[in-house]
Amino acid sequence: MLKIFRRPRAWVVFSYEYFYGIPESDSRKTFDVMKYKKIRDHLVAGNYLHRKKILIPEMVSYDDMRLFHTNEYLKQIQVPSHVSRFLKLGYMNDWDVYILEYFRIVSGGTLMAAKHALLGNRVVFNLGGGFHHAHPDHAAGFCLINDVAIAIQKYRSLKPGLKTMIIDLDYHQGDGNLVFYKDDPDVFTFSLHAQSWIETQNESNLDINLPPDCSGEQYLSILREELPKVCNDFAPGFIVYIAGSDPYEKDTLGDMNLSREQLFERNRFVLDMVRKKKLPMVVVAGGGYGPDSWEIYYDFLRYALRGKA
Ligand SMILES: [Zn+2]
Repeated sequence: MLKIFRRPRAWVVFSYEYFYGIPESDSRKTFDVMKYKKIRDHLVAGNYLHRKKILIPEMVSYDDMRLFHTNEYLKQIQVPSHVSRFLKLGYMNDWDVYILEYFRIVSGGTLMAAKHALLGNRVVFNLGGGFHHAHPDHAAGFCLINDVAIAIQKYRSLKPGLKTMIIDLDYHQGDGNLVFYKDDPDVFTFSLHAQSWIETQNESNLDINLPPDCSGEQYLSILREELPKVCNDFAPGFIVYIAGSDPYEKDTLGDMNLSREQLFERNRFVLDMVRKKKLPMVVVAGGGYGPDSWEIYYDFLRYALRGKA
């Protein structure tokens, strides 16, 4: 019998351990803890993704975390009460090693996505990740471990001279990456974010601050104008896209007004540009809050997997 194997258009990394099961605290109550599983389940139910094709990651090792984080910090995060303090969680989380394990498994997913993207010149999605606020020696903005920077550090050491471009379209400025890579000639950060959440000034290679009332049209026209230019000039060999859903008009944290269609258009624009250039790319979910947030990454994955809006 003739079997036809079709090369998947995009690969997906996910684990059932992608579950940020922290009891609600004031600062965290808007995050949908079932978001990533919901996206996975809808993709499988809609036949966009075969469940056996999903890549299942392991927790990132301490050796790999050391490529970005300091030894002292890695010692501190092994103590749950420190983690709870770093992430500004309530005292009720002080006993919970599960918080560290959540960040380690999702970061392992970003590493796995990078490996498969670079090995096969593919586009690989992690159904989570994008902890762009984590610095080498401290956590910030709910980010304990910087999965993106760990993956970049790991694969640039295996592929010397690899030029990486971080396209960070999360609502928030990715200060952990911006500060770490500001003087690095082989890593370019392109960041489009709300000016109300700036943590650091002029650190990025291209740091565009958008006003709170920024419309979807304005957002998309800046992206279309600026991104292809810098991508052509820098000529990366690898892309990491932080596809935060928090510029969504229904986001419960952000104050931008992009519709579901406009966010789909944003994501489609980035993916089409990267595919035209035949570059390997890792996509991570980034931020996105509230019960409707999952739809944005889900729309993007449907398009990436099947070419349909
Ligand atoms: Zn964000």
